[in-house]
Amino acid sequence: MPASKIKQSLAALLNLTGWFEYQSRQKIEGNALILMYHRVLPDPVQSPVPVPAGMYVTPDSLRVQLTYLKSKYDVVSLQDLVQHLQSGVDVSRCCAITFDDGWLDNYLYAYPLCCELNLPITIFLTTGFIGTAKWFWPEEVAWCISHASKKGKTSLLPAGLLDILNTTGTERGSVAEKIDSIVESVKRLNPMRRAELIEGCTEYREAVCKGKSERLLLNWDEVREMKESGLVSFGSHTISHVLLDQLHRQELQHQLTVSREQLEMETGDHVELLAYPNGNFSQEVIEMLPNCGYKAAVTTQRGFVNNTTHPFELPRIAIHDDVSHTLNLFRWRLFVR
Ligand SMILES: [Zn+2]
Repeated sequence: MPASKIKQSLAALLNLTGWFEYQSRQKIEGNALILMYHRVLPDPVQSPVPVPAGMYVTPDSLRVQLTYLKSKYDVVSLQDLVQHLQSGVDVSRCCAITFDDGWLDNYLYAYPLCCELNLPITIFLTTGFIGTAKWFWPEEVAWCISHASKKGKTSLLPAGLLDILNTTGTERGSVAEKIDSIVESVKRLNPMRRAELIEGCTEYREAVCKGKSERLLLNWDEVREMKESGLVSFGSHTISHVLLDQLHRQELQHQLTVSREQLEMETGDHVELLAYPNGNFSQEVIEMLPNCGYKAAVTTQRGFVNNTTHPFELPRIAIHDDVSHTLNLFRWRLFVR
């Protein structure tokens, strides 16, 4: 039996024995949960770019999860949760729901569900990409590999990417799995080589698509419409999804301040929350945040939140279909790991 099936059966058994119920009661005492989502896609195979299972949930999974959260938790906005934490209010049973990056599919699939269930969410926007047809570099890389593999033209890929593909290419597994490990290899390159490789990918895609790029991210009208509902609020995910711990002081300040100012100008709301792109931060970043107008920041580290948690190191629990496509696996994700 494959490991995923064993885990699924074990999760069903734990549910039957009441173990999740017990864990839930234990863990919500004095603790709040912050969930981290990215994309919401009904049919990822139809996406113009391969989407790793660790990046999305389907609208059906999301519905099951949000309905469960609504029945068990006090779902509050992240701003309210931060306010509770800072004023020493007990956060037992509180849960905040967040989405990173600013994907168009959040508007198409998550937003209607939040309206239907009357649940608040926070979306962290990469402001330099909102309202544009620009893609993040992992999508550029994934698209190039997928396109070149399908067409049998991998020799046309940018040189750096071809080297990585050749060293990963012998591994077994689907193209999507290979893309995951290739993206991880690109992340480990030094910034200069990474920038060159990404530029090469962008040029490759532009040459093939002849300037026609499908918009994957939100535009400002969609942002404002969601804001008007009173259920969706926004935080910064920087201007260009940069790794904040690798920036010089001046560029760091620019990314933090300009993204927040643009969000405030476009939405008319006060913005005080940040999500670190890729979860990267350092002591220098934390020290700069209050001066740049931030009150709290969320990481990608796993954990619960309570009144002793540092406001600039709020952990979250990542929820994606690879680990939570059934309700029991979702419970497992919340309470086991
Ligand atoms: Zn991100």
